[in-house]
Amino acid sequence: MKTPENASTELKTFLEDARRVANESGVLLPEPPYRFGLDHCWSCHREFLVFAWPSNGPWSTAEPPAEGRPATIAEVFGETVGYSYWSNTCPFCGERTGDYFLYFKPTGPFFSIEGDFREDTEESYTADMEAIAAWHRNPSRAEG
Ligand SMILES: [Zn+2]
Repeated sequence: MKTPENASTELKTFLEDARRVANESGVLLPEPPYRFGLDHCWSCHREFLVFAWPSNGPWSTAEPPAEGRPATIAEVFGETVGYSYWSNTCPFCGERTGDYFLYFKPTGPFFSIEGDFREDTEESYTADMEAIAAWHRNPSRAEG
């Protein structure tokens, strides 16, 4: 993602962090429609990029766009849901990242875009990235 000319300070700072993590993990920053956030692996604890895309909801069975699809997005079988779905995985150890933790925990990188990311326009893309960046800088730790 190129830094938009009108990007907020939060988004510029986030993109600097994201580029550092991209270099460290060998996973490139994606182009639209892929939104991206930063997370730490629950298993190996290293920091890496996680991705969200239009038409994807948590535990989505819809195949993500093939063009530019990050290699860490993989179809996995979910024991809890009982079917195969598309998930983020860790580039270092291969463990999947639970969608619950990405979308529904207040500290999750996609908590702030829940419900909005299915639309795919230039405006919604930028709005989602701004929301992810603001969340990255100041995640809500609100209880309940
Ligand atoms: Zn890992």
